[in-house]
Amino acid sequence: MKVLKVDHIGIAVGSIEEVKKLYTEVLGLEHLGSETVTEQKVTTAFFPVGDTEVELLESTAPDGPIAKFIEAKGQGVQHIAFRVDNIEKALEELKAKGIRLIDEKPRKGAGGAKIAFLHPKSTFGVLVELSER
Ligand code: ZN
Repeated sequence: MKVLKVDHIGIAVGSIEEVKKLYTEVLGLEHLGSETVTEQKVTTAFFPVGDTEVELLESTAPDGPIAKFIEAKGQGVQHIAFRVDNIEKALEELKAKGIRLIDEKPRKGAGGAKIAFLHPKSTFGVLVELSER
């Protein structure tokens, strides 16, 4: 497997509408677009920064993973996503190396990407997302 770059940094927020002003008006980034991923009960908004992006995540339901994260830990960095060249191969390789996977098979993420999460218990507390697009 090959990790190509930090694809994006996922930040859990209570309201994209409210928080996006920081990234646009204060930090001067461009809001590239938003997308709701229904299966994940989340709306995402992307802000490119150089070769990577900030991804704001707002829950669409009180029982969604982002709502639960905010309830437990408050708003803030929720995951880091690495872009890989071949996500199926990467998952196979990581599993063979004893890394716990949340997703054994890739699923559909925002922007048509194939994504999969690794278990934070195997990555020293960081929720790692793999992304291929
Ligand atoms: Zn993400």
